[in-house]
Amino acid sequence: MTSGFDDDELEAYYRMIEARSAERGRPRRRREKAVRYEPPTCPTPEKIAYPTLAAVTGAILAVSRSSRQSPTLRCYECRCGAWHFTSSRRV
Ligand SMILES: [Zn+2]
Repeated sequence: MTSGFDDDELEAYYRMIEARSAERGRPRRRREKAVRYEPPTCPTPEKIAYPTLAAVTGAILAVSRSSRQSPTLRCYECRCGAWHFTSSRRV
């Protein structure tokens, strides 16, 4: 270290840089967060989404009553947070 540029000055200098970059980065980071926030996407948006297991169970009962074929319907909790039912075994 050369004389005249001691640790205190160096620390003050780094703090100034940190404060500057924080000020610069803050609004950008905030905006990115707002843009990046998305609810989990539903892989099967064409399916009806039921909020609870009780709701989807009621829907399955209603469908199996009204349907002659009475396919075996299964319900599952989707990664979108809702419940769906399906008659296929793929899911
Ligand atoms: Zn879903």
